[in-house]
Amino acid sequence: MIPVTEFAGKQVAVLGLGRSGIAAARALTLGGARVSAWDDTEAARQKAEAAGVPTDDLNKRDWQNFAALVLAPGIPLHFGSPPNRFVQMARRVGVPIIGDIELFARTVNAIEPALRPRIIGITGTNGKSTTTALIGHILTQAGREARVGGNIGISVLDLPPPQSNAIYVLELSSYQLDLAESLRLDAAVLLNFSPDHLDRHGGMEGYINAKCRVFRNQHTEDHAIVGMDDAWSRGVYLRLRNRSGRRLCPISAGSASGSGVCVIDGKLYDGTAGRSVKTVDLTRAATLPGEHNWQNAAAAYAACRAMGLEAGDIADGLMTFPGLAHRLETVGRIGRVRFVNDSKATNADATQQALKAFARVHLIAGGRAKAGGIEPLAPLFPRVAQAYLIGEAMESFAQTLSGKVALTRSRTLEAAVEAAYADAMVSPDPNPVVLLSPAAASQDQFRDFEHRGDVFREIVARIAAREGVTQDSIRESVA
Ligand code: ADP
Repeated sequence: MIPVTEFAGKQVAVLGLGRSGIAAARALTLGGARVSAWDDTEAARQKAEAAGVPTDDLNKRDWQNFAALVLAPGIPLHFGSPPNRFVQMARRVGVPIIGDIELFARTVNAIEPALRPRIIGITGTNGKSTTTALIGHILTQAGREARVGGNIGISVLDLPPPQSNAIYVLELSSYQLDLAESLRLDAAVLLNFSPDHLDRHGGMEGYINAKCRVFRNQHTEDHAIVGMDDAWSRGVYLRLRNRSGRRLCPISAGSASGSGVCVIDGKLYDGTAGRSVKTVDLTRAATLPGEHNWQNAAAAYAACRAMGLEAGDIADGLMTFPGLAHRLETVGRIGRVRFVNDSKATNADATQQALKAFARVHLIAGGRAKAGGIEPLAPLFPRVAQAYLIGEAMESFAQTLSGKVALTRSRTLEAAVEAAYADAMVSPDPNPVVLLSPAAASQDQFRDFEHRGDVFREIVARIAAREGVTQDSIRESVA
């Protein structure tokens, strides 16, 4: 835990007691602040109390006395109707509204420069968790003291306290960036943009501006690593280039990027030291399939170069990355059939990346549909040998696919996996793939995407047991 001493002796309100709220309350208390922690949900309050964080009804407090309101990133700051009443209250009496990342930033900013740890921040619409975990893995493999946290699941304040040799690797959502005024990143990564979460940021421009906050406060020696594979990100790159003030590194999966890092046909080229040289063959990186992962790999490569790593060390890390669960994760092979869990793909955009990574799949899709459904996948329909549809989106997806792709209305994940396996076994394909990449949210049938992916894994394990495939050989097939 990182003690936050900035508010020692002062009263601070903490609103929203999820993982980061609880960590903020504890870190502030440890640093000597008087904390009023609150959540409108009874269950969250009970969880906080059980974690040793006393709650205090913010409805009954005099807001004039608070030095800050620490807001959970899930609570809308700018938009939402009506705005959260505590946010309104804080604004009315002039209490600054900040987030847990800001508490971390202020703590680090107070450290004298020679002892300051370094911070890498990663944002973008897709690929944040993969890139964050990948950077953490490469740095650790190379013997660096990497600490991975933020939006990836462990609150930054739950990480060990700063030391001069530490490198914090933080996944940052646009919501978190909204609340992190004084964060300065030694290396800031912006991967890509696609229209997502627009409601909360008031359209694409608000969303882009929120994400561009990763570059705020950077010094001339700091690194800005910017994706070049969509028009919005290229726009950001051009804006930063015209403004100078930091070292700018373009990255791309698909087109040459001169002084930056790019991946062409799976080969990574490093132009950060002048002439562009081929340094890594990503087609050999088993857990990073597909062009989208090459974009993540290029960004991770650039960030690690910015931390002074040599190409060889980075290549080793890329080859040994274990991959993240629920993102194109091979969970087993039964005979010729490979089972891939991409439960994290909760929209068509993510499923599109998955389909690009395989020549032909037995696709399990469906759940709670997002706006636009699976229309954007149409150019990739020829890659789908058969679709197995589940959940609320079953009928609407069936309509989109009808006449273009062979489909089965499976309703449940269990029935879908069984049917897909039966078809894959007799498929003429030498290495058939059963892919769970739902292009829809999970909450109609599961708690969350992790639960959906875990159930998929369990079903595969059950089929494997029935077929006499041992757990050991499943593990080996995945390794
Ligand atoms: P995030 O943390 O931004 O949600 P993840 O790394 O968890 O991203 O990946 C989520 C899904 O998005 C993956 O299942 C994959 O299909 C897709 N994805 C991953 N990286 C990229 C990328 N660079 N561009 C587009 N889609 C991606």
